[in-house]
Amino acid sequence: MPYVERYAEIKAVEGVTLRGSVRHAALHAFSAAQRLRGATEKALRIPRVQFLYIHHTFSDELRALERLVNDLTRTHSFISYSEAVDRVRHGRIDKPYLCVSSDDGFRNNLDGARVLRDLGISACFFINPGLIGLSDETTIRRICTDRFHLPPVRFLDRAELDELAAMGHEIGSHTWEHHNMARIPHDALVEDIAKTRRTLIEWVGRADHFAFPYGRFTDFTTAGYKAVLEAGHTSCATAERGCHMNTVPIHPEHLLIRRDHIILDWPMAHVHYFLATNALRGDAIGNPYLRSA
Ligand SMILES: [Zn+2]
Repeated sequence: MPYVERYAEIKAVEGVTLRGSVRHAALHAFSAAQRLRGATEKALRIPRVQFLYIHHTFSDELRALERLVNDLTRTHSFISYSEAVDRVRHGRIDKPYLCVSSDDGFRNNLDGARVLRDLGISACFFINPGLIGLSDETTIRRICTDRFHLPPVRFLDRAELDELAAMGHEIGSHTWEHHNMARIPHDALVEDIAKTRRTLIEWVGRADHFAFPYGRFTDFTTAGYKAVLEAGHTSCATAERGCHMNTVPIHPEHLLIRRDHIILDWPMAHVHYFLATNALRGDAIGNPYLRSA
């Protein structure tokens, strides 16, 4: 089998790193301490919009996806990406909301999308049109190694992308083929963003939202952000942790969506820890990049 189908295969390749073990132990201690104080449960009930970013839904992660949603439904309302953005933009944040997104268009998104659909959830999938339908094994291996630091994973093809959209999920732009936007010339960047959005609209009817590859503030620029909005997107997302709890409107030019990366393999206590920590910290953590814009 040339392509990875199970998360266990990735873990086997990565091995148990010292950094990973230390992080795991630290998180375990933090989450246990937080839970002890009853802080977690309380924090999870703070009114806010929190965007979950679930990168992959391999076959051995699907039950965990269902468990995650069922667990968090106790304290949150799941809403679509567009509704989440709209609530943040207009400050309509009256209770705890979550929404789900995923990037890069791996084939396993489709399996996760079906689970979410069956649970009544509409997610947003950020897609690189240039990677859709790739079939050459050498190319896939190179791209997965260079851009995703993963063993070869199959990408969605056109029919599968259509299926995703037909399930009621949203499709967003993620650049043409996942280049770091901070490292490509401005003209090429503007063209890339426009072409990506145009293509997705042609394929699935709309592409309102944008998430930039790699997701750190350092992977993005002021000029890139302007180009994203000028191309017609109504929102732009990072992969920086945080949540949104403003009760006054925010102009799109001042809004970069924060998302919490979740690995489905994590124990629920770790997921609670991240969500609760960000809920307690609020959205006053600032945005150094936009302030300098
Ligand atoms: Zn990506």
